[in-house]
Amino acid sequence: MSAVLNKSPVTLPKIEFIDLKAQYSALQTQIDGRIRRVLEHGQYIMGPEVAEMEHKLAVYTGARHCISCASGTEALLISLMALGIGPGDEVITSPFTFAATAEMIVLAGAKPVYVDIERDTCLMDATQLEAKITARTKAIMPVSLYGQVADMNAINAIAARHGNIPVIEDAAQSFGASYIGGKSCNLSTIGCTSFFPSKPLGCYGDGGAVFTNDDMLAKAMREIRVHGQERRYYHTRIGVGGRMDTIQCAIVLAKLERFDWEIGRRLMLGDQYREQLTRSGARLGLLAVRPERDCVWAQYTVFVEHREAVQKAMLAQGIPTAVHYPLSLNRQPVYRDDDSAAETPNSHWAAERVMSLPMSADLTGEQMARVVAALKLEN
Ligand SMILES: *Cc1c(COP(=O)(O)O)cnc(C)c1O
Repeated sequence: MSAVLNKSPVTLPKIEFIDLKAQYSALQTQIDGRIRRVLEHGQYIMGPEVAEMEHKLAVYTGARHCISCASGTEALLISLMALGIGPGDEVITSPFTFAATAEMIVLAGAKPVYVDIERDTCLMDATQLEAKITARTKAIMPVSLYGQVADMNAINAIAARHGNIPVIEDAAQSFGASYIGGKSCNLSTIGCTSFFPSKPLGCYGDGGAVFTNDDMLAKAMREIRVHGQERRYYHTRIGVGGRMDTIQCAIVLAKLERFDWEIGRRLMLGDQYREQLTRSGARLGLLAVRPERDCVWAQYTVFVEHREAVQKAMLAQGIPTAVHYPLSLNRQPVYRDDDSAAETPNSHWAAERVMSLPMSADLTGEQMARVVAALKLEN
């Protein structure tokens, strides 16, 4: 007994699930300088950093327009409002996503209609999409979960065949990802992203953006972002208070200086996790990444049985894990839809097994080795 007690399991420092402190250390001069400049010029709302960030992100994705907004959630709402979606309309999406996806569809007055995911990627199964389209379908909203884009070519082709249904990419987790040469956020009618601190490109609070190549939609979304005003105090439509703070844009601008390096790191770490987990013989399933896409690993997610026990054992060794997400939306109390839930078995299968491991650009090889060793031991 004493031998067991003496061998305390937590002898190594705790690994950060997402190491934002290491990122800040690397970028401190740029971040502090950018914040100080905002404090000095004092334009806290719609200051020059807002337009500068929008321009740089538009260039990065190749989209004609980038419009920043208060959060990823607000980005989804603004895009639905700009498309005129409301009561009586249906929006097709995935039930295996963060709640905001369906929440904004409902808040806009429409009904979320769920298409199941592919079991190996956790992304919308495009082969099941067409069967869900009705005369009421006013948008399709695939989710680029974990940092990998869904099969956008197939989804766009189906949308085009059915009278050009708009496609909104929920790219909250996939800024920086690519799909056959195109960039996430610029693969469909509208792309929505988030700068929540833990996303691949995060600020130090809430922030988000919408992207489009459509000038009319861009104008509508710009107006909706600020209370539907066409010019100051002249309101032509219903909007929201949905601006992103200048300081948060300044932080994104500072982080952009290292972003290409970070994306390169994320891709490499994803490959290393795959290689080492396969070699370790740990009993788990790995997420598939399709050859024409790369995944920026907003979360490095695997499938495990006995998830709770594995998580507990990992935590005892100083390794935090997380579950994105434990319940399909059509089984959540507020969105419960039994008919739909009966048709989305892959979503429920994934919800019971997914577990995310520590991941960020600053994760070290030594830290990854500890995660892999702990998983092998406990699973
Ligand atoms: C984070 C996230 C959102 C919401 O973004 P916020 O900036 O937190 O509002 C929406 N959809 C998905 C898939 C997300 O991961």
